[in-house]
Amino acid sequence: MTRSDDLEDIRQALFDCSQNFESEALLPTVIPEAAPLVASDPYAFSLATCLDRGTKADIIWTIPYDIQQYLGHLDPHRIYQMSLDELADLFAHLPRRPRYINDAPRTLKELTRIVVEECGGDASNIWKGKRASEVKRTFMSIHGVGSGIASMAVLLIEAAFTIRFDDLDRKNMDIKPDVHTIRVLYRLGVSQAKTERAAVEAARRLNPEYPGAVDGPLWNIGRTWCHALAPKCSLCCMERVCAKRF
Ligand code: SF4
Repeated sequence: MTRSDDLEDIRQALFDCSQNFESEALLPTVIPEAAPLVASDPYAFSLATCLDRGTKADIIWTIPYDIQQYLGHLDPHRIYQMSLDELADLFAHLPRRPRYINDAPRTLKELTRIVVEECGGDASNIWKGKRASEVKRTFMSIHGVGSGIASMAVLLIEAAFTIRFDDLDRKNMDIKPDVHTIRVLYRLGVSQAKTERAAVEAARRLNPEYPGAVDGPLWNIGRTWCHALAPKCSLCCMERVCAKRF
């Protein structure tokens, strides 16, 4: 078990490290041109969030750009006029597609209805002046969006749009483990096994006040330096505190 002093060093290094990641690292895209769209357009951001199921993050965050390129716009009012069949045809023609492509048209339709009918066409009204619980409920009312995605949406909104919700129960917000976070927590010596459960418990020990806050920094470290094969330890911002347990 890692000593509490070591955990504190690792926690501090992790948050120092996260300062260096650009917002693009938070919302990674396959092509650089796609990044500004999801970082600045709340509708594009919400769309990618709602489709984020079982597909690599960089593909998901690129899809709004692909839709914009295909349609020549990303106007929710115009997209709202499209039928489900037209939306299905749109997804079928994209260069990158969400994993659950049969569900995607309905997901897009229902999100767009909320943006147009309840938010006056401005998707940021999904969260502006709202409590996190309301925002989560709104996302969960959209086809295919479960509790995990809705929770992630709330955290990403805070990070990407510099909003702070005052009703978040941060102590009970866990990481959403994936291959990167599981691997990095294990190599750092915080997690005792390369499993999702061990990663969740490790994150709780590492940052008990808000376990989910370490998710993004860990994920970025895994993607940038701590590759499954040939990790770039000499370049990694965690090098000084890492147990390098391979
Ligand atoms: S120092 Fe090496 S093993 Fe440790 S997190 Fe960085 S890349 Fe991974």
